[in-house]
Amino acid sequence: MTISINTTVKGIEWPALPSPIAAARLAALFQLEQTQWWSEEKIRKHQFVQIKSLLQHSLEHVPYYKNVFENKINIETLNETTWLDIPILTRDKVQQSGDSLRSKFTPPGHGSISIQRTSGSTGKPVETLATEINTFFWNVFTLRNHFWHKRDFSLKLAAIRFNTDENAKPPHGIHSTNWGRATHGLTETGASMMLSILTPVSEQVAWLQREKPNYLLTHPSVLQELALHCQRENVQFPSLCEVGTLSEALPEGLRELCHKVWGVKLVDMYSTTELGYLALQCPEHEHYHVQSEGVMFEVLDDNDKPCKPGEVGRVIITNLHNYAFPLIRYEVGDFAELGEACDCGRGLPVIKRIIGRYRNLLTMPSGERHYPQLGIQDLHEIAPVQQFQAVQHSLNDIEIRLILPRPLQAEEKEKLTVLFKEMMGDCFSFDIQQVASLRRSASGKYEEFISEL
Ligand SMILES: [Zn+2]
Repeated sequence: MTISINTTVKGIEWPALPSPIAAARLAALFQLEQTQWWSEEKIRKHQFVQIKSLLQHSLEHVPYYKNVFENKINIETLNETTWLDIPILTRDKVQQSGDSLRSKFTPPGHGSISIQRTSGSTGKPVETLATEINTFFWNVFTLRNHFWHKRDFSLKLAAIRFNTDENAKPPHGIHSTNWGRATHGLTETGASMMLSILTPVSEQVAWLQREKPNYLLTHPSVLQELALHCQRENVQFPSLCEVGTLSEALPEGLRELCHKVWGVKLVDMYSTTELGYLALQCPEHEHYHVQSEGVMFEVLDDNDKPCKPGEVGRVIITNLHNYAFPLIRYEVGDFAELGEACDCGRGLPVIKRIIGRYRNLLTMPSGERHYPQLGIQDLHEIAPVQQFQAVQHSLNDIEIRLILPRPLQAEEKEKLTVLFKEMMGDCFSFDIQQVASLRRSASGKYEEFISEL
């Protein structure tokens, strides 16, 4: 694919001379074009060079890590074995440690610092910090994704995503003349538009028919509902050439469904607000490549030992470039399965499957399985629910466990039952229980939805 670079110097039309920030993005991308073909060992070696720098900074400027590293971890001689001695950082620990994880000093070149909050559908958000460098790398990996999947920048991009902006509501959504910050200042693009994820499916269809995008980006659960609706109603989107997904684990069969209903390819990606891009789909296969130039990606078993290809384990991530709030060996809360090296030739490690942990699959009485749409916000409108957990015991029975600061009233219980029927289906009977604490999995993780089927 080609990209037409914007020039910023008067009189210089070709070859273009981009702005300094656009040039920096291209310079990083130029390196990624090469590093993707390095051997896994060579990539690993360079990761450790970067990690040692991050660890030294953390030891000197981050109270939490001073305590963890001082006299315990020898940063200079750090290797793959001693790396495993660094304790895992859980979400709970991040919530409890608060300010002690903040860096007291950030090198000047890292730019301004912003606060990031993960959505925390379980009612327990995590707050972290990020620098302009983190945003910069986010943009660079976004560009890599576009190049890998040969996207045409002149086309139209639509997104159906979580957005609290009033303007994102149907029927119009938000419109922009370009694709946003990754391509900003670098090249001209087609228009983009965004609609709120809370839009009912029939209105999503009407919006897509009106906007006629070429690319659609959304959550797998939204895409699945949309595809099933279009299959039932025989709705086609002739301009659509690719659907992209993010934010949730991809349910079985969704790729096939999109191909069958609209004749389009699905490209999935794995990213999180606090860590950036973790893995992108291989240009030639359905599995993913770890974005090793941005993160160290580990998959560990219940004994914290690295998993081998074919084994499912917990995802542990280190962001290599966050000097404001270092997240070193951070447990994301997802499961993944490593794969064998890819025949495309890229040395970036392969992730065969990403398995969402917090959103297990709900099984309908028909046998159909999907990700339940559970939002604590909706519950909040009825009662002061602090945390909740849904457990599917059989094809018809779902137990709902709630944590509240006071007893649940009968009227609230009735309203909640109606809401749960809307969320999961009125084919289920709901047993709502107020509890003192919620069940955790064997390795101590909290799950929002647990299927016992
Ligand atoms: Zn590959």
